[in-house]
Amino acid sequence: MSRILFWVGLICLIVFAIRSKIRSAQKRAEQQMRDAQQRQQAPGGPAGYAPRGAQKPAIEAETMLECAHCGVFFPAGEAVRFDGAIYCSKAHAALPPN
Ligand SMILES: [Zn+2]
Repeated sequence: MSRILFWVGLICLIVFAIRSKIRSAQKRAEQQMRDAQQRQQAPGGPAGYAPRGAQKPAIEAETMLECAHCGVFFPAGEAVRFDGAIYCSKAHAALPPN
């Protein structure tokens, strides 16, 4: 009788092991399918990387100007024009150019 119980228990263990193996293999296959779909949606490289030239740079280059007084380069949008010269700030516009 104990032999029969031993064999039944062994068979149950084997069945459980095979089931868990199949389940993990299915999960892996599903993950691979998902990865493949993501690669198809974003062609030209691995997921997360856009192809070159597809995205504009986040910061566009702005023209830089040199202050007539201190020589510091600053964005053209912040320029202070005074007496034909360009300055980085109103304070420097009040000072003579170097
Ligand atoms: Zn300056």
